[in-house]
Amino acid sequence: MTTGSGRPASIAPVNVVLIGPPGSGKGTQAVRLAERYAIPHISTGEILRSAVRAGTELGRQVADIMAKGSLVSDELMTDLVRARLKEPDVARGFVLDGYPRTVRQAQALDAMLASAPMIVILIEVPDAEIVRRMGTRRVCDSCRLTQSVADAFHPESEPCPYCGGTLVRRPDDEPETVRRRLAAYAEYATPVIDHYRKRPTFGVVDGVQHADNVAAAMIAQIDRARAAR
Ligand code: AMP
Repeated sequence: MTTGSGRPASIAPVNVVLIGPPGSGKGTQAVRLAERYAIPHISTGEILRSAVRAGTELGRQVADIMAKGSLVSDELMTDLVRARLKEPDVARGFVLDGYPRTVRQAQALDAMLASAPMIVILIEVPDAEIVRRMGTRRVCDSCRLTQSVADAFHPESEPCPYCGGTLVRRPDDEPETVRRRLAAYAEYATPVIDHYRKRPTFGVVDGVQHADNVAAAMIAQIDRARAAR
C-alpha cells in the first residue's frame, strides 16, 4: 500500500544494502530508493570524497588510498558507518552504498543492526559494460550529480545541465584506476555476496537494463521482503 505521495505507508524501517561493481549504477539507484522510501542514502565513497575535499583529518588519511583505488581499512570504515547509523535520520531506515566491502565489514554491520531487518540487493553488470560506462562518467564539481557524457565531450562548452557547474572526471574514474577498482571488486565482492546469498532477503538485479527497470526490480524486491516480515 502507498500514501498519496506514492510512498509506502508502512513505518517499518527499510534497511537496504546495495552491492555492485563501481559503475553499476548503485549510486543512481540508491538516490531513487532513498527518495521513494524517504530514507537517507549513505554512500561511504561520498563521505570519504567530501572529507578529502574539505581537507579534514579523515580526508588526509584516505586521499592516497582512494586515489590508488585501494580499500580503506575495515576499522576506519566500520567506525565511520557505526557513527553514521547512530544519526537520528536513520530511524526510518537507510540505503547503504559502498559498505560492506569485506566479510569483516559485513560481520560488523550484522552486529550493528543486531536483529533489525536488512535487504541486500546485488546489481550485476559485466566488466566490459562497466569500462564503457566509466569512460563517459562525469561528476558536477558544484552540485555533485553524476552524469554520463558523449564520447566527444568538451567540458569548456558543456556545463552541468542542472546547475551550470563544470563536469569533471572523478580521479578514481581514470582508466588505470578503474581497472584496479574492478580487480579489487572481483576479489572482495565474492565472499561478501556469499555471506548474504542464503538469506531470504538477498536478491540479484540485472543492472544492464534501463535505469527505470532496475529501480522497478529493486522496489519489487524491497516491497516483497517487507510484506514477508
Ligand atoms: P565508491 O564511491 O563506493 O566506489 O568508493 C570510492 C573509494 O572509497 C573506494 O575505491 C575505496 O578507496 C573507498 N571506500 C569506500 N567505501 C569503502 C569501504 N566500505 N571499505 C573500504 N574502502 C572504501
